[in-house]
Amino acid sequence: MVNIKSLSLLFISSSTLHSSLAFHASFQSSQQVGTSLSTTLLYATNSDKDQSKNNDRLASRKSKMGRRSILSIASSSAITLSSPNPSLAMNNKSRTEGYAVQHTEREWAYILSGKQYNILREGGTERPNSSILESEERDGEYRCAGCNTPLFASSQKFHSGTGWPSFATGLAGVEVENVNPVQANLLGAEIRCATCGGHLGDVFNDGYLFVNTPAFSSGKRFCVDGSALIFKPSDGSEEVFGDTAPPAKKQEMPDFLAPPKINARDR
Ligand SMILES: [Zn+2]
Repeated sequence: MVNIKSLSLLFISSSTLHSSLAFHASFQSSQQVGTSLSTTLLYATNSDKDQSKNNDRLASRKSKMGRRSILSIASSSAITLSSPNPSLAMNNKSRTEGYAVQHTEREWAYILSGKQYNILREGGTERPNSSILESEERDGEYRCAGCNTPLFASSQKFHSGTGWPSFATGLAGVEVENVNPVQANLLGAEIRCATCGGHLGDVFNDGYLFVNTPAFSSGKRFCVDGSALIFKPSDGSEEVFGDTAPPAKKQEMPDFLAPPKINARDR
C-alpha cells in the first residue's frame, strides 16, 4: 500500500511524460485499479509547458470530470491505499462517545503511562516483541489497562509468531469494529474495550493458519497490543503490566538472514 503511494509521488515529481505513460500502462494491467486513478497519475506527471492544454484534451477524451476533481480522487485514493492503519481510517466512531467509562484526554494522560496512552487513546501500535505479555503463559485474565474490564482469557492465548499477544477469541468486554467482509479479511477490524473505548489492536480472519492452537477452531486472530493490557494471574500473584518490556535476551538472527555456516574444512 505504502509502495503505491510512494510510487505515485515519485511519478508526480517526474518530468517525463514517457515514463508516466509506461507506468500508466503497467499500473493498469497489473494492478487493475480504476482508470480514474491511473489517468490522473498520467496527468500529474506531465509537466510539459502546454500541460493544461494536454490535460484538457485528455480529460475531455477520457472523462467528463474536470482535472481538479480527478486529482482530488487520486489523492484520496492514495491516502486510502497508503493509510498505516486502515481500520481506523474507515472508522468514524469516536473513542469516547457512548462508552461507560469517561475521562477527559488530560485525565487519561494522567491515569495511563505513555505507552498505554498511545495505544488505548491514540490508536497506536506497539513494536512487535516489545511487551512482556507476549510470552506470558500462566493461567489468568487479561484486563483493560484503562478501566480494568476483563478482555481475554489465558485459555484463548496462543503464540502467533507475530510478536504481539494473540488470542483466539475475546470476552464480552471486547468490541469489534463493524467493517465490510473484504476489509475484515484483508486488513482486519479494529478491536476496542467496550467499556472505555480504548484501542486494543485488530482482529484478523486467519486463525485457521495456526494449527494446534485455539485460533484454528475460532478462525480468528485477535492481535493485541500488550501495552493495552494488564495480566491478572489466577494464582493470586502480582499483576503484570503489559507496557513492561520483556527481559533482554540475546538477539538471534532468523535462519534465512543468517550468513551460511562455513566449517574450517570448507575453506
Ligand atoms: Zn477499558
